[in-house]
Amino acid sequence: MKTDFICPKCNGHLLVGDKIIFLAITKKDKRSGIILLSPKLGDYTSLLHPTFKIKEREEVDFFCPICHANLTATDIDEKLAKIVMVDEKSDKYEIYFSGVTGEYCTYKVLGNKIEKFGDASDTYYKYFINRNI
Ligand SMILES: [Zn+2]
Repeated sequence: MKTDFICPKCNGHLLVGDKIIFLAITKKDKRSGIILLSPKLGDYTSLLHPTFKIKEREEVDFFCPICHANLTATDIDEKLAKIVMVDEKSDKYEIYFSGVTGEYCTYKVLGNKIEKFGDASDTYYKYFINRNI
């Protein structure tokens, strides 16, 4: 089985082709659009329609495009979004990433095992290592 990315609420498949698909809504002025992210952890290339512009440091909420659940990881930090990665061995990881544009950090969590990716990954790392699991 290939690595998959799923919605933690509806288990819907978010990886289509070679991109993870989200509905994104800017926090401040509630502009919405589709955003495509790379499934490669630590790769922060994103694709948006040219009419959907997000400024550097702008905060965005991510939603599941299938069930419309808000993916904000409110239990950790309102700036992080959470999805689930299922790897080829069927192990399930929680994947957290920043909804702040240009803030590059991703966390891959299984129980108390945490892997971090990105330049800004120290920003929220403390929440994961201090979390009671
Ligand atoms: Zn969903």
